[in-house]
Amino acid sequence: MKALDELTFDNRFARLGDAFSTHVLPEPLDEPRLVVASKAAMTLLDLDPAVAETPVFAELFGGHKLWAEAEPRAMVYSGHQFGGYTPQLGDGRGLLLGEVYNDAGEHWDLHLKGAGMTPYSRMGDGRAVLRSSIREFLASEALHALGIPSSRALCVIGSSTPVWREKQERGAMVLRLAHSHIRFGHFEYFYYTKKPEQQAELAEHVLNLHYPECREQPEPYLAMFREIVERNAEMIAKWQAYGFCHGVMNTDNMSILGITFDFGPFAFLDDFDAHFICNHSDHEGRYSFSNQVPIGQWNLSALAQALTPFISVDALKEALGLYLPFYQAHYLDLMRRRLGLTSAEEDDQKLVEDLLKLMQNSGVDYTLFFRRLGDESAALAVTRLRDDFVDLAGFDTWAERYKARVARDGDFTQEQRRERMHAVNPLYILRNYLAQNAIAAAESGDYSEVRRLHEVLTRPFEEQAGMEQYAQRPPDWGKHLEISCSS
Ligand code: AMP
Ligand code: MG
Repeated sequence: MKALDELTFDNRFARLGDAFSTHVLPEPLDEPRLVVASKAAMTLLDLDPAVAETPVFAELFGGHKLWAEAEPRAMVYSGHQFGGYTPQLGDGRGLLLGEVYNDAGEHWDLHLKGAGMTPYSRMGDGRAVLRSSIREFLASEALHALGIPSSRALCVIGSSTPVWREKQERGAMVLRLAHSHIRFGHFEYFYYTKKPEQQAELAEHVLNLHYPECREQPEPYLAMFREIVERNAEMIAKWQAYGFCHGVMNTDNMSILGITFDFGPFAFLDDFDAHFICNHSDHEGRYSFSNQVPIGQWNLSALAQALTPFISVDALKEALGLYLPFYQAHYLDLMRRRLGLTSAEEDDQKLVEDLLKLMQNSGVDYTLFFRRLGDESAALAVTRLRDDFVDLAGFDTWAERYKARVARDGDFTQEQRRERMHAVNPLYILRNYLAQNAIAAAESGDYSEVRRLHEVLTRPFEEQAGMEQYAQRPPDWGKHLEISCSS
């Protein structure tokens, strides 16, 4: 276990130089204080969890202090936002403090979000508010616990610094961890600004550091792109299987590692709704829940375009063609498991689709349906769940098919079935109303609710004594919360 001053830095991205990022110092928050820290994320850096409670922790991650070896940089990138190209974006309020490596030799970027203005701030103030910082913290750690690839969050530091959004709020910083902060938009930036040398340097950097196994392939860049396609397909399959809606799938928010990245107005589905739009600025529903699948491919083609100097168009097209089959395989595999099935049959896809059609507009809670399905034998479970559906005859037909399918799947005890299903069907997810309750308490200075909710969400599959209220459907006020997009 390390103390804070024992972290070892190796700032590989900073060494790429000024064409890639600009040196900027964090702008401190007033009266920094710890809101919440993730013990699990601290162990990624070999940090002793006890150090989170020390004043120096809040000073470091509230922008007051810096390690001598840190090299804070704002990265430049661009990206397609809502389908249109924005030629220059970049870290407008976040700084890559440096790269730390742990005893296992893994590198982690330390990225401080809300750290003040940078050359890329455009009209923004460089700040992040407590509300959005808590949401990012909870979401990244909750997704990770569900097995969905995501950036991680070390802590949220609150402050008394006023920040103006729709109303006056308080500034905060969230310390994000990821093996890389390189986005699709990094490649687009160097492609569209016609800087082939830097683009080649970036591609080498990503290949060597993040896809070294692709070096062995006859066409390393193509192998790397294929891997990026597969990882994105897998990530999005998991979003769809667990009802996660990202909300702002612009290419500047897509990680080159295929991890969930840059949390804004995201939401987990409560009632199942394929057309759900969590981002209130998304009037066309470009990033609606079901559109995430084709948008994933759209984003990969934007990346492919930026990789045309390295890979032939035909090869890129062929690799892009792998996206949907990869997606479908991962999605179906997970949905089979959510239904408690251990084998594969031709009609399983249809079984899943028909269930979702029945759920749509019936107000069925997406998470609890699957959890309850595993509580009991298939026959008992469908009898109990039946009342949640509007189309009872339709559900009965589905239930008969499901029971027959379960019977063909094998002879398992109910104990085995429950254990297997509960291991993939969470009881606790980050519902918007739960986040909202925790944020309201934190805004009035009480951080106990954020901390408790975080704890519950780190073990989403395990029933936890005394935590029944976190497994409830939303109350009426919490069903259609308007989550502000300002952050
Ligand atoms: P986002 O929609 O949060 O992914 O941000 C899009 C772009 O706007 C990125 O370049 C951000 O760094 C920048 N940005 C967002 N909020 C702010 C802010 N308050 N101050 C400065 N830049 C910001
Ligand atoms: Mg972003």
